[in-house]
Amino acid sequence: MALIVHKYGGTSMGSTERIRSVAQRVAKWVHAGHQMVVVPSAMSGETNRLLGLAKELMPNATTPEAMRELDAIAATGEQVSVGLLALALQAQGVSAVSYGGWQVPLETDSAFTKARITRIDDRRVRADLAAGRVVIITGFQGIDAEGNVTTLGRGGSDTSAVAVAAALKAAECLIYTDVDGVYTTDPRIVPEARRLSTISFEEMLEMASLGSKVLQIRSVEFAGKYRVPTRVLSSFTPHDIPIDEEAVSGTLITFEEDEKMEQAVVAGIAFNRDEAKISVIGVPDRPGIAYALLGPVAEANIDVDVIIQNVSHDGRTDFSFTVHRNDYARTMELLKAKILPAVGAADVRGDARICKVSIVGIGMKSHVGVAARMFQTLSSEGINIQMITTSEIKTSVVLDEKYMELAVRALHKAFGLEEPKAAG
Ligand code: ASP
Ligand code: MG
Repeated sequence: MALIVHKYGGTSMGSTERIRSVAQRVAKWVHAGHQMVVVPSAMSGETNRLLGLAKELMPNATTPEAMRELDAIAATGEQVSVGLLALALQAQGVSAVSYGGWQVPLETDSAFTKARITRIDDRRVRADLAAGRVVIITGFQGIDAEGNVTTLGRGGSDTSAVAVAAALKAAECLIYTDVDGVYTTDPRIVPEARRLSTISFEEMLEMASLGSKVLQIRSVEFAGKYRVPTRVLSSFTPHDIPIDEEAVSGTLITFEEDEKMEQAVVAGIAFNRDEAKISVIGVPDRPGIAYALLGPVAEANIDVDVIIQNVSHDGRTDFSFTVHRNDYARTMELLKAKILPAVGAADVRGDARICKVSIVGIGMKSHVGVAARMFQTLSSEGINIQMITTSEIKTSVVLDEKYMELAVRALHKAFGLEEPKAAG
């Protein structure tokens, strides 16, 4: 008997029929003797619907008092789904109780719409488990020190589940979703993409930050910090598949580098179209220029990702960086109105039609020539690289958006990701 946390995404909770199937799956785990905590998302589309209503009344809710209300509104989606799931379990004769984040309590800071979990009180949950009840806890929501309802950011139910698993020292956190695991890349772009049976925590963190949408980044950070064994698996298998089979399906996030030793150098290819490139032309090349350009950008709370400063000619240089597309217009305005005049740069050019494609793998730590192979592959496809950035376990390139799918397919092939791994 073990304490297990299940998380079900919006699609898995998408209708009363689907909720009944979730309840049947959870009941199977209960009957196998496990103590169960379940963290569901809102029914699919519900959070968007709720935030859409809010938007009709206030298109730009950015003040703290407005954002407080956004969270109060959005949190109701999960409030409904936990109650429905508890009823579905009870209807099957399984004792179950639901809690909102505020009832656990799952405490957070007060950063509305992107709050961070600070503490989880596990006493109430443990008492229920000891009494033989399934405990169902809302994903996505918590409560701050002043008693305000908060939410953890879009996709935050993953983080709720992993954090609850960490607090309860659960044996495993199973994230049930509409894909059956973590893939070498998005199968919608590369049909030959292969499911990974394991992925290291570091690789998962890079994949999540670089655009893979399978798990919220913060949930991966939590899993790493507290070493929560976390598995991503499908909720679309028949609910009555044998539990032994289900328990080893999907993709397990591992913390032991050794386990990856005989595996591929590159684990996966991530990509995103969320960024825009900005180039400042003719910047006087003198100490402090990077700070003069990017300091005000940081002060405006705009995240900068890839940065390149060119070699200077005649005392002037060009400076390029990327920001999230949502911040693109604001950054351009800021540069034109304030920063350019202050630093005496000649011009600023922007390009929102870019993408970032990355190869990720802890094998890159110990293998040379991996990045070179990436560049060679792109070159033989005639794809121009605009920017490059690397870390120990990833290389990312910025490309014209129109090459994204071609680049991902070519790289997936070049690194042999569609082939089954040789038996170690
Ligand atoms: N319901 C929330 C959202 O749609 C949280 C989640 O599903 O993880 O973002
Ligand atoms: Mg999600």
